[in-house]
Amino acid sequence: MALPKPGQTDRTTLNRLKKRSVEDRDEMYAILDSTILCHVGYVENGQPFVLPYAFARDGDRILIHGSSGARFMRELAKGVPTCVTVTKLDGMVVARTTFDSSMNYRSVVILGSAEEITGPEKNELLEKVSNGLLPGRVSEVRTSTAKELAATTLLSLALDEASVKVRTGMPEDDEGSGTGVWSGVIPVHLVAEEPIPSDEESAGLEVPASVRAYVKNPKA
Ligand SMILES: Cc1cc2nc3c(=O)[nH]c(=O)nc-3n(C[C@H](O)[C@H](O)[C@H](O)COP(=O)(O)OP(=O)(O)OC[C@H]3O[C@@H](n4cnc5c(N)ncnc54)[C@H](O)[C@@H]3O)c2cc1C
Repeated sequence: MALPKPGQTDRTTLNRLKKRSVEDRDEMYAILDSTILCHVGYVENGQPFVLPYAFARDGDRILIHGSSGARFMRELAKGVPTCVTVTKLDGMVVARTTFDSSMNYRSVVILGSAEEITGPEKNELLEKVSNGLLPGRVSEVRTSTAKELAATTLLSLALDEASVKVRTGMPEDDEGSGTGVWSGVIPVHLVAEEPIPSDEESAGLEVPASVRAYVKNPKA
């Protein structure tokens, strides 16, 4: 059942600039669905580790996959407390002072413990991850082998406890105009360039639909 809010608890309530908190689950989904990179953190023997991973959303959870040989994956699969952060940079906010300069962004913080997915649904959900990263790619290539599936750990993290923070708009500084100092916003967005074939065979083939679609609408 979809929760009405991202999942605000004491731990996921903003302290600073609460006005930037977004309590709309659909907006959280929109941020997650337009992103493929997250940073995943956990603490081992008092030492925090944070690593970047690809992810895809599946309803009210996110899916993260990785090598079953990776220490990080093995630790997360044990269900240790984790924090996942997703960040989109939308602009550089250039104020009349460096103190007031900022960024326009949309970000999501998710707390919880991951669960490993091992059953018959693993292959289908791994395909969901692949299609989340490059929509349509799964149907253009062969199915994964049993060996490839065994070499991959698939984790899910419920979107039960999360927060969303969004900054938009112009700089907010107290200097006012008349200082002779420029201020404004530099919009920032992701651009994908012309795909480069890996070898002569690929150079002779038509660029597949999934790749063409990504170039038109890239996400990172
Ligand atoms: C691209 C980007 C760049 C930033 N750069 C800076 C910077 O240089 N300096 C700076 O002071 N701040 C920066 N921020 C804001 C920063 O991420 C924190 O929001 C802020 O410092 C935390 O303040 P707090 O004391 O309210 O957080 P806390 O009290 O520590 O947070 C409480 C809870 O609020 C939620 N929360 C906090 N921050 C975020 C967030 N960004 N997105 C979603 N949920 C959140 C989490 O659930 C967290 O557990 C940046 C944010 C983004 C997205």
